Amino acid sequence: MAARRRTSFKLGVSGLGERQEIASGLFINTFYRGCTPGFVVTDEGLILIDTPLIPKQAKDWREQIESAAPGLPILYVFNTDHHRGHALGNQYFLPATVIAHERAYKEMSGYTENFKERVYNSFKREPEIQEQLTEIEIILPDVTFTDCARLQYGGREIQLIYAGGHTPATSIAWLPEEKIAFVGDILWVDQHPYMAQADSLEWIDALRKIRSLGAERLVPGHGPVCGPDDTLKVEEYILFKRQRVRDYYREGKTKNEAKSGLVGEMLELFPVPLERKAKIESQIKSGINRVYREIQREEELSGAVPRNGALQPPAVDVEQAHEPQAEANMIPIPVAVEANQ
Ligand SMILES: [Zn+2]
Repeated sequence: MAARRRTSFKLGVSGLGERQEIASGLFINTFYRGCTPGFVVTDEGLILIDTPLIPKQAKDWREQIESAAPGLPILYVFNTDHHRGHALGNQYFLPATVIAHERAYKEMSGYTENFKERVYNSFKREPEIQEQLTEIEIILPDVTFTDCARLQYGGREIQLIYAGGHTPATSIAWLPEEKIAFVGDILWVDQHPYMAQADSLEWIDALRKIRSLGAERLVPGHGPVCGPDDTLKVEEYILFKRQRVRDYYREGKTKNEAKSGLVGEMLELFPVPLERKAKIESQIKSGINRVYREIQREEELSGAVPRNGALQPPAVDVEQAHEPQAEANMIPIPVAVEANQ
């Protein structure tokens, strides 16, 4: 059959590229804006991971899903976090049951008219997308979990596991049989991670936990399929940001000085498309903002006191003292899911 979709269209912007089967019955699409969504085919129905933000892409995804698995119902939509790129397309996959972390439910409950307006306005330079965003409907999770949940359908097992770090809601989908994990926005491939809601130490733990799963392949929230070692670049990036922010803090520099002083250094670490430079710069600054507050707290707790206008380093180095949580924490224990509706 001749390809009817444009597969060479501008990647991740408004393309409707073809899905990719990464294992038998496991599909992803790297052509959409805002995330890399996926779905798992089981004999009883489909389980989706994240939903595209742009309505045309969400509708295209639904078409692709239905043509890959004709006649099978969509059982669940799992949102790896509450961000627009992962959860705003939920409305196009109803009547599926939406499942996410309890905190994602709380965050999404706050998505009022004001939020919809902000989403709409954020596309003012792309009128062809903006005109699609006039009827945003927020579909909250029907089912939430706090630690982990297990979906078992048609011979497939999918574990939903809280990981945190990127946001207090970020969770991953782990398929132990296939050794594939959908790791949401904990992993960004060759892109600057979005850290405006981050807890950097928890993020480092999350990356280490992902490496301890025994996964062969990872599907990042943004980017193509990769391997566990690709988590190392994000870890280095976060550790570097923490170290540089700490340097600034100890020199007595303010949060704003750290932001303007470090943004150039951080920009170098991952490629930045010219048309997105301003946006990425502002995201890096909100990440520095977040990390600065963390470092400030750590330094205050560890007893560093101002001396001669600068700060005295604490007796214990927080980076060194920080140990990843025990691997045992990753063994999921099924818990009862709480219904919100
Ligand atoms: Zn996110």
